[in-house]
Amino acid sequence: MFEVIEDDVKEYDLLHPCCRKEMYEFFYHNEENHSNCLDNINTNMREERPIIHPLNVFMNTQINSDGSISVEKPLSRAGDRLVLKVLMNVRIGISACSVSESKCNGEKCTAIKVIVEDS
Ligand SMILES: [Zn+2]
Repeated sequence: MFEVIEDDVKEYDLLHPCCRKEMYEFFYHNEENHSNCLDNINTNMREERPIIHPLNVFMNTQINSDGSISVEKPLSRAGDRLVLKVLMNVRIGISACSVSESKCNGEKCTAIKVIVEDS
């Protein structure tokens, strides 16, 4: 589907589904309607998928020697880039993850910049 043209970080996660409202309630006891990637993508793509398995770009997930999985502080820095060449027709949903309660996004959420070019 894609060809990687440039990749500054080379760290991704394919294990975790999109964050969702229930995750914030369970792990962080945030009972408010916390913004989340599942709702962001479903809303903007006009879909109602119950679960989405994304490519979590720059997410630093570690598999530990005891078999546990931990999410660590990102290795990415401001300005790091992932450049992909799309090789077929695709429909892509993108969400800047709103987890500020853990190491996932370095405990603070920042904007992402997405550029789509037609060649
Ligand atoms: Zn998220």
